[in-house]
Amino acid sequence: MRNFKKVKRVIIKIGSSSITDIKLGVKTDVLDNIMKMAYELSKNKISLTIVTSGAIAAGMHELGFEEKPKVLSLKQACASVGQAKLMEAYSNSAKKYGLICGQILVSHDDFGIRKRTNLLSNTLDSMINNGIIPIINENDTLAVEEIKVGDNDTLSSYVAPMISADLLILFSDIDGLYDKNPKVYDDAKLISVVEKIDKKIVSYAGGVTSSVGTGGMATKINAALISTSAGCNMLICNSNRIGDLLDIIRGEEIGTLFLSNKNAISSKEHWMIFTSNSYGDIIVDSGLEEALKVKKVSILSKGIKEIKGQFLDNKVINIKNEKGQIIAKGVTNYSSEDILKIIGHDSKDIDTILGKKNLKPEVIHANKMVVLRNDLYGRTIK
Ligand code: GLU
Repeated sequence: MRNFKKVKRVIIKIGSSSITDIKLGVKTDVLDNIMKMAYELSKNKISLTIVTSGAIAAGMHELGFEEKPKVLSLKQACASVGQAKLMEAYSNSAKKYGLICGQILVSHDDFGIRKRTNLLSNTLDSMINNGIIPIINENDTLAVEEIKVGDNDTLSSYVAPMISADLLILFSDIDGLYDKNPKVYDDAKLISVVEKIDKKIVSYAGGVTSSVGTGGMATKINAALISTSAGCNMLICNSNRIGDLLDIIRGEEIGTLFLSNKNAISSKEHWMIFTSNSYGDIIVDSGLEEALKVKKVSILSKGIKEIKGQFLDNKVINIKNEKGQIIAKGVTNYSSEDILKIIGHDSKDIDTILGKKNLKPEVIHANKMVVLRNDLYGRTIK
């Protein structure tokens, strides 16, 4: 049995195929079952937050489309019809158990801009504390490629630190993470627990994604990296086990559990690494890169080789090494225009070069920076 005794806040992510049917529309029986379990959990003071897909699929059903439209605006029209249907179905199911749910539609900037992250976090907290079940989806009607989160695995991992979730469950079309492709190898083993997401684990995901085309395992591992770094356990299990949610939370060994990182970073650091919008890059020399591996040191103009992008001061930017890998992220004291003038110069000359007095000696202060761990190098960081 797994030890989930301390679990108080749970997020479940449900995919489109689990709750919608192209012929029947929203599967109300599944939603009824989820709300019944939410009711049982509430008796034990465990809150449920739901990240739901299915807006586009439900809209397709309503509008009589058998295939997903290719034109973006039509997909968004489907989402607008379907999201309303989905929410109506969730509310009807909740009512049967005396529960109330509320809709939250988010976009990438709700996670990328710190002020908005804090607002969202406060709203979610207030909903949960008042017994309201948050039903979250991306605002598909307005989301376009460049600015969307893109998938609800990632979106649910972004939500985890906002509500200090203890457990995130991704209900998926596979049983969990296997050590090799289960459709090809009879001896493929389901991994029950992942203590640390290392290169081996990432390679298992790559194998499954590319060879069977189930898609999404790499995204799920990324979601695991994001949620476990925030101190939240994450579980991948088959959506045909949704009805076993109570057993799962009691600790029954179903699916693959990614254990939360014991050295979880602060929510501010987590935000900066994983979700903040980065407005540009600073490329530092190898001396500064080596120094950053040992200790968090401030970024001085002298150690900067190059900058990319145009940004104002007080914005989050990437700090990259000469190979182009992100090694840290931080809030800049200077705009890109000013950095271009002071690049390579000594800090004591900044006032003279920029013609102002008492300017800050650091381009990025160590206290406003997060250095990424080695095992995060080369990973997708948004
Ligand atoms: N937000 C999309 C929808 O509701 C689904 C995204 C996903 O499946 O990850 O249709």
